[in-house]
Amino acid sequence: MVACTRVTILGSTGSIGQNTLDVIARHPDRFAVHTLTAHSRMDLLARQAFEAKAIAVAVPSPTAAERFKTAWGDQANRPEIRIGAQALVEVAADPASQAVMAAIVGSAGLPAALAAAQAGKRVLLANKEALVAAGSIFMATVRDHGAELLPIDSEHNAIFQCLPHHDRASAPTGPAAGVRRLILTASGGPFRNQRWKDLAHVTPEQACAHPNWSMGRKISVDSATMLNKGLEVIEAHHLFAMPAERISVVIHPQSVVHSMVEYEDGSVLAQLGQPDMRTPIAYGLGFPERISSGVGMLDLALAGRLDFAQPDMAQLPCLALSFQALKAGQGACIALNAANEVAVAAFLERRLAYTEIARVIETTLAWQAGQPDTTLSSLDDIIALDERSREAARRAATV
Ligand code: NAD
Ligand code: MG
Repeated sequence: MVACTRVTILGSTGSIGQNTLDVIARHPDRFAVHTLTAHSRMDLLARQAFEAKAIAVAVPSPTAAERFKTAWGDQANRPEIRIGAQALVEVAADPASQAVMAAIVGSAGLPAALAAAQAGKRVLLANKEALVAAGSIFMATVRDHGAELLPIDSEHNAIFQCLPHHDRASAPTGPAAGVRRLILTASGGPFRNQRWKDLAHVTPEQACAHPNWSMGRKISVDSATMLNKGLEVIEAHHLFAMPAERISVVIHPQSVVHSMVEYEDGSVLAQLGQPDMRTPIAYGLGFPERISSGVGMLDLALAGRLDFAQPDMAQLPCLALSFQALKAGQGACIALNAANEVAVAAFLERRLAYTEIARVIETTLAWQAGQPDTTLSSLDDIIALDERSREAARRAATV
């Protein structure tokens, strides 16, 4: 008999959040929902909280709380409603739940993800921007507080599955023994094979139409520019304590091989499966056991062929800028991520051309490089640089 794990989902109304609820609902004997949080879509949050019998919800403002109450109506057992950014941190740390799915998009999710690690929980980490902005602090917090860290990003989940067993679910201090290289696969997104300079008139709808994965809008744009792969290289560097020069990216349009680990003896281990986030989510929830996820089996004969190609860095400025930021250090990674969040939001609101995303990031990185060195040893230091980088990016976006 397995004890029931209570799970809190930060960002339950998003793509990862909804997939997490789907997997949890398949295992009522193993998992129960504790708290759900959302920034918008209070009607959906109310529906989710009702179906999952949530104990509490966290919402951004008193207005959102009123919308939640209206959506809840006169149904019985309304969950406790907690309000504001500090409530996110509190629910993440609440000892009443044992596992936290960190699925807020952007560096806005960092304080709560860090709080879950500080509370020594099982942290299911989808929120890659948290690691990009605060990788060192985050990993040290996982180690110091005995938290369990399960990567949910499909590439990192694949690598985690392919690494030697003794390295699992902790925060390593160096590369796993015998591992030569981590190989991240990338679909190439909807504009694969097109030249960057020909993409100036791309619309948000075109950029969000990912060929293989169904995801939130911000990560869909990141996948199109391949800045997402850049964030993932930085994420892999922190999660697996791997130097940048031992992480490579290969284009694999079918998204069947989710990533690979290359060993000293010439072996390459890969994890394959359908492109459906419920597989990594179920892996993280069930670890070390395998549980059903609702994902169908992979039929390789039906897939027919798997293609691989070298990325053309000259046509992928956002990926090149990510490698540049990783080499430059944490300040540059914070600036990269903040500038991208500002630029992508402006693009989605049709205030910025698609190809300007790279220029805004480049300008912000140049701004950051000219700043005096500051210490980045606390969450406050990181948030301060994140905010200043956003200001620099906004200036760059309006010229
Ligand atoms: P999404 O946009 O679909 O959902 C984001 C969630 O975060 C929503 O619940 C939203 O209400 C909440 N949120 C947004 N802004 C917030 C704020 N300022 N404060 C608090 N909550 C806020 O995003 P998604 O696609 O589910 O992605 C979530 C995270 O997981 C991202 O970091 C993304 O990079 C990562 N990820 C997603 C996928 C995927 O398949 N969708 C795959 C790998 C990694
Ligand atoms: Mg990914």
